Amino acid sequence: MEILYNSTRTKGNPVTASQAILKGLSDDGGLYVPDRIPALDKSLEELSHMTYGQVAYEVMKLYLTDFTEEELKSCIAKAYDSKFDTEVIAPLVEADGAFYLELFHGATIAFKDMALSILPHLLTTSAKKNHVKNEIVILTATSGDTGKAALAGFADVEGTRIVVFYPKNGVSPIQERQMVTQKGKNTYVVGIHGNFDDAQTGVKQIFGDKELGEYMNEKGFQFSSANSINIGRLVPQIVYYVYAYVKLLEEERIKDGEKINVVVPTGNFGNILAAFYAKQMGLPIDKLVCASNENKVLFDFFTTGTYDRNREFMLTSSPSMDILISSNLERLIYRIAGNDAEKNKEMMDALKKDGKYSISEEMKSQLSDFYGNYASEEETAQTIHDLYEKTGYVIDTHTAVASSVYNKFKKETGDNKTAVIASTASPYKFTRSVMNAVDNQYDNMGDFELVDKLSEISGTEIPAAIEEIKSAPVLHDHICEISEMKQTVMDFLGI
Ligand SMILES: *Cc1c(COP(=O)(O)O)cnc(C)c1O
Repeated sequence: MEILYNSTRTKGNPVTASQAILKGLSDDGGLYVPDRIPALDKSLEELSHMTYGQVAYEVMKLYLTDFTEEELKSCIAKAYDSKFDTEVIAPLVEADGAFYLELFHGATIAFKDMALSILPHLLTTSAKKNHVKNEIVILTATSGDTGKAALAGFADVEGTRIVVFYPKNGVSPIQERQMVTQKGKNTYVVGIHGNFDDAQTGVKQIFGDKELGEYMNEKGFQFSSANSINIGRLVPQIVYYVYAYVKLLEEERIKDGEKINVVVPTGNFGNILAAFYAKQMGLPIDKLVCASNENKVLFDFFTTGTYDRNREFMLTSSPSMDILISSNLERLIYRIAGNDAEKNKEMMDALKKDGKYSISEEMKSQLSDFYGNYASEEETAQTIHDLYEKTGYVIDTHTAVASSVYNKFKKETGDNKTAVIASTASPYKFTRSVMNAVDNQYDNMGDFELVDKLSEISGTEIPAAIEEIKSAPVLHDHICEISEMKQTVMDFLGI
């Protein structure tokens, strides 16, 4: 049965999956949501014998119902290939009683690759299906990882250009270097004087600028988004939760139908929302553990029912989670408001105007699938240290936030169900913070010296993504003010 996509802010005017992917954000500023969550139509046992690509097809076909089988299979085949350094794409590693789902084996060694390696193909296929002649301009705000993964995905993809805005002083040195060395004639990387929320708000404003949109159209361009607000990002992220479950089943680590807990280090709420959708599809997940760093706006929300971004923005060692406006939460709010666009819009307007909103008790009672908590900087470092000492396994700072919160969850609830922890970045991406946590004697080493040391102590190979940037020339050095973002885009397009 066909699934259509509604905006979270206006009732009516549903669009097809390919149209939702093309647009990214709805014209009214809302996010597209499927009009129902489809149920898995293969048994877990059947899925357990499938490859990652096959599971991807079984999940994504249920959402992208206007794609033909051939189109979707072709997108999947182009995405999950030798860009990943392991055939299983998303391996599970057991350490200290939990299963780490390593989502960082793609081109840029962070979990954003899971969706951004397929989004360009979904997007160009969507353009063809809808007879779009304009060149598609991907506008992206990044807290560090999305930017590089989107650049890598879209570089030299015909019919597209990509502009990435990142907070000049808010990403790790390796993240920045990965971005400013990006090749591809159609790529443009800009540092802004501001934080991630400024970048994201600026990008949303450009999207919402109707006059600019019309002018672009005259000139043969149209915008789309590679941020996790795009349904073409969200749907591929559901896949790996299903995959993780069925692989645990195949390896007889769990019984068919046994419930597991899923722990997700959260920023924009995209990854954990995908896990929530997987649960709604019938995957036996019990709790969704939402782990925050010191920007604990989501923990406070789950505790009090009030979302309040009026607070100091903290720069932490897990920069991809330094976010005070978790965009994808809007999709959950819409749902617990009974798919009521008007009610959701009221809250989003309040968030824009006053920086906060509160949900009703009735809405709050629907959040029992979630458990929220946070880890301080100290706890995060301690977690990396302790896990390494105990098992020899080295995790990155984001994953450590999740691991630390998972320990709190177990302690608080006594819930010892099998747990999958989303491991969202390679430790090589945040080498300094990771190595400092392992042992502070490494503090005076250079960045690449530390990389070698990490390889030595963890017994893992240095990923190609890191080897590459050692010698790659800087190709982007553009910096702008928040107020100049729109002009910067127009300059790049030459209009
Ligand atoms: C983006 C990112 C996150 C946060 O994911 P969301 O989907 O934004 O919640 C966590 N860890 C890493 C390494 C990331 O790149």
